Amino acid sequence: SDETKIKWDKAPCRFCGTGCSVLVGTQGGKVVATQGDPEAPVNKGLNCVKGYFLSKIMYGKDRLTTPLLRMKDGKFSKDGEFASISWDQAFDIMAEKWKAALKEKGPTSVGMFGSGQWTVMEGYAAVKLMKAGFRSNNIDPNARHCMASAVGGFMRTFGIDEPMGCYDDFEESDAFVLWGSNMAEMHPILWTRITDRRLSNPHVRVNVLSTYKHRSFELADTGVIFNPQSDLAMANFIANYIIQNDAVNWDFVNKHTHFKRTATDIGYGLRDEHPMQAKAKNPNSGKMTAMTFEEYKASVAEYTVEKASEISGVSEEKLLTLAKQYADPNIKVMSLWTMGMNQHTRGVWMNSLVYNIHLLVGKISQPGNGPFSLTGQPSACGTAREVGTFSHRLPADMVVANPKHRAIAEKIWKLPEGTIPPKPGLHAVAQNRALKDGTLNAYWTMCNNNMQAAPNMMEEGLPGYRNPANFIVCSDPYPTVTAQASDLILPTAMWVEKEGAYGNAERRTQAWYQQVKSVEGAKSDLWQLMEFAKRFKIEEVWGEDLIAKMPEVRGKTMYDVLYKNGNVDAFPLSEAQELNDDANDQGFYVQKGLFEEYATFGRGHGHDLAPYDVYHTVRGLRWPVVNGVETKWRFAEGSDPYVGKGDGFKFYGKPDGKANIIFAPYEAPPEVPNEDYDMWLCTGRVLEHWHSGSMTARVPELYRAMPDALCYIHPDDAKKRNVRRGDEVLIESLRGEVRCRVETRGRNRPPVGLVFVPWFDARVLINKVCLDATDPLSKQTDYKKCAIKITKV
Ligand code: SF4
Repeated sequence: SDETKIKWDKAPCRFCGTGCSVLVGTQGGKVVATQGDPEAPVNKGLNCVKGYFLSKIMYGKDRLTTPLLRMKDGKFSKDGEFASISWDQAFDIMAEKWKAALKEKGPTSVGMFGSGQWTVMEGYAAVKLMKAGFRSNNIDPNARHCMASAVGGFMRTFGIDEPMGCYDDFEESDAFVLWGSNMAEMHPILWTRITDRRLSNPHVRVNVLSTYKHRSFELADTGVIFNPQSDLAMANFIANYIIQNDAVNWDFVNKHTHFKRTATDIGYGLRDEHPMQAKAKNPNSGKMTAMTFEEYKASVAEYTVEKASEISGVSEEKLLTLAKQYADPNIKVMSLWTMGMNQHTRGVWMNSLVYNIHLLVGKISQPGNGPFSLTGQPSACGTAREVGTFSHRLPADMVVANPKHRAIAEKIWKLPEGTIPPKPGLHAVAQNRALKDGTLNAYWTMCNNNMQAAPNMMEEGLPGYRNPANFIVCSDPYPTVTAQASDLILPTAMWVEKEGAYGNAERRTQAWYQQVKSVEGAKSDLWQLMEFAKRFKIEEVWGEDLIAKMPEVRGKTMYDVLYKNGNVDAFPLSEAQELNDDANDQGFYVQKGLFEEYATFGRGHGHDLAPYDVYHTVRGLRWPVVNGVETKWRFAEGSDPYVGKGDGFKFYGKPDGKANIIFAPYEAPPEVPNEDYDMWLCTGRVLEHWHSGSMTARVPELYRAMPDALCYIHPDDAKKRNVRRGDEVLIESLRGEVRCRVETRGRNRPPVGLVFVPWFDARVLINKVCLDATDPLSKQTDYKKCAIKITKV
């Protein structure tokens, strides 16, 4: 019977930014199986181990099914115990707390922390709710911790965000340079494509650069272990080598680039400086000034192979091997990076320095040739970046600080001029500090586990969550560390329990339909946003001056004004949606309307999306999609519809179509090991777990494969501390301490003086120890280096 038959439908994988498509098998109202989608161009029928077990992430024993509020004597109490309440009661108390904060302190007292795992429509609805509804720019995604420096790099060099190349480059490239990415574990399906290319073509070279040895080194022809932060010196050396060896592509450089110098001495975004941390002198200066080629040449000239080798600890021979691959006009080179480059107090600079190399030799926007910034989350690109859920952004690369951009958004949203506040809101780390200080009081985290993910949270996060002046709401399917630190927990529908769209790292937008009802009681993030918006009359969130510009909104709810405005509600339910009686509960009725309104921002401006329904019939399309055709290589004639005949290349994100080659120097990190804290700590992920493990740790097969976070340490360092494999150690920094078992032989092999600890394990909250310094340009955190000490417990 139909009940016993497995029904299959497509959806993108819930986890990483690779964006694999999976076939989802449902039976009896439950997801019972997943398999790699053979029609998917990204993964060609394969999945990694996380993708194969996707069906189990929704059915953990402790899945939340009812809102939970901290209560004492039948009432909300900050120090009460969690007790079940109805959705109505949940929104009542939320609305009460939000209204009180707005009344007392205004829009800057409310905030939201979102996600690169939000669907496009969820992120878009959240941006509208915060920036236009509450008129607060205090919304930021967890993508601030992973992609913000990549965004900064793209905007400064090209004036437009996201990679110019695509995954087709993997089959065309002769040399791969991983500048800080363990693709074998973090982007395993893309790694299969590189592995295939390398093993089928003996001339292909794989270069892996990192501060410790990991699984990607197994395929490396050249494995490079460098001192933390010294990638800045290595990249400048390669640029110098290209110039000194006459390998500059002058035709390309003259036609398509400018030379710039960035302001230095920009600080490290620290709140309080400790004597062992570098001092900030001129924070937030992103200023760039023009320079000539000769000046640029003189600036990089100091980065000789000897100096780069001395700073990085890498042999001259290896540095020359790398430089020669970039310099040789007959070798097509792909540079790849993720967190190793972005989670870096000079991450924006480092992104630019790699672009410099590709621009100097003209190896960009062509099959097999190009810099490629990978993403961590499934919709870090599609939602966090393209929709613009950052505190300074609006959709389609626009920013709140630009009056023209605000006017465009207000026009599309059919809202009065002056609705969107001009000042960028609080970024991720600043939100935690404001919670602690009691200036941010009503706060909603959605689709992230910030208490486990953010740096230094015991000192800068937990006091804010527990501050009596604050009310903290956490939407999640599971009782995460963040949920348990909050005041109200909202049970959330996940993945194919709702309809959605994600955008992956190669600009591919993919959509899926709801395939099962959510577990009883859980509701999608979109539904939660919409229902919350219904709790506010517009007079409660907007001032009279604004209402006077559009008097017809008086008496309406924020929901009516934002989401029932003739754009969003213009689209009727599709047939598939009508058939599903769970549709309205999960916010189906507005999915298409929200998507189409959002798509208006980018169409005609280089971010063109196809009509929403098209995405349900294909395995994604890479934007810009013009006349139904996707774009593989942006900025290149013949591939990108925005580049005219005869132009060759055009970096149209900049007014004159030219990209910037930006000089930035090497600088020492903000905190380096000393006598007391004598080792480096680097954190990251592992193959088996997604982010904080809130989903994957509930899959028995994945949990058993990797149950505990381990402290990977060099055997000599272990011996020096009288520690053996399996012993428990105390890891301490200036900020906090955690206990962890030691591994001296595992998959990660740090050099002497550095340890690697993954952050997926809620019992080993390693990010307590991490430094909450940020790149002052991108406000992104550096999880890859801080000073610690290790002692045997
Ligand atoms: Fe593909 Fe990433 Fe999902 Fe693995 S986790 S199946 S690589 S999208």
